[in-house]
Amino acid sequence: MTNVLEVADVVKGYGGKTALDKVNIHVREGSCFGLLGPNGAGKSTLMKLMTGILQADSGIIRAFDMDTRHQMSKIRQLVGYVPQEITLYEKLSAVQNLKFFGEMYGVKGAELKRRIENVLEQVGLSDRASEAVGTYSGGMKRRINLAAALLHQPQLVILDEPTVGIDPQSRNHIFEMIRGLRKEGLTLVYSTHYMEEVEALCDDIAIIDHGSVIAQGSLHEILERHADKAVYVESDHITEPPQLSGIIQASARGRGWVLESEQPLNTLHDMSRLLAEAGANVHALELVKPSLDRVFLKLTGTALRD
Ligand code: ADP
Repeated sequence: MTNVLEVADVVKGYGGKTALDKVNIHVREGSCFGLLGPNGAGKSTLMKLMTGILQADSGIIRAFDMDTRHQMSKIRQLVGYVPQEITLYEKLSAVQNLKFFGEMYGVKGAELKRRIENVLEQVGLSDRASEAVGTYSGGMKRRINLAAALLHQPQLVILDEPTVGIDPQSRNHIFEMIRGLRKEGLTLVYSTHYMEEVEALCDDIAIIDHGSVIAQGSLHEILERHADKAVYVESDHITEPPQLSGIIQASARGRGWVLESEQPLNTLHDMSRLLAEAGANVHALELVKPSLDRVFLKLTGTALRD
């Protein structure tokens, strides 16, 4: 499968402070690529480099086999960018706003009218289309921002934390829309600091922290490579870390113990036998489901919170 976007050894600083340090990522055609990291990790900076708003200090970014340093005007025709900031005229209606954006991309007349109707439908705001954007909720404004980025029918859509601070209804619309765009074959780059969003939407993920990519791959690959394999056990019988071969580390969690193990099935089996032999009362004995949450904590030493 070809890569729509390739970021190679990209470095970017602001006045001597490094925001991105030798970042390498590649985005496969037709995939949804999630950039996951806390505030200040460098996600927006990376997206601004991808869209030519900023220039890298060093390294290369190629989109559709073109170099962003030299062929940005061609690339721009193929890329839709949804910034975090809302860039709409409050006094104008959604249709008027979209007309403005469409004309900026050279779309006009009946074709523009048709596309505006389509994107409004996609973001679920056709019925409010003639009202001034100033009367919209934050989530609705963001949906119009998203619609604006689709008017020129891009092949790659880059969304910078599109769900921050919005109502659940708008969030659902955005999710639906992203799934719809995927079905149409578009490629998406999606940044967020919500783990569950990348888990739900993305095929490939880069975890970014302090300007560096610290893990990259499919969700499955990342979990396989970095998640601790473990068993959770909760029983009145176990009041201290169980001594069983194969357990790398035992740590108290809630009322029970998380037993990290290279061979969690063996540990589960050994633990079950031990508890059965002791005639113990068992409240829980199960494999711990690996999560991005745990991976992030393990890789960065900090939890990824809002
Ligand atoms: P994220 O999108 O992950 O929150 P950003 O790319 O916005 O991260 O920021 C990365 C780092 O660069 C942060 O330390 C931020 O303070 C800094 N930064 C971002 N934009 C600017 C700017 N215009 N001037 C100076 N520093 C900036």
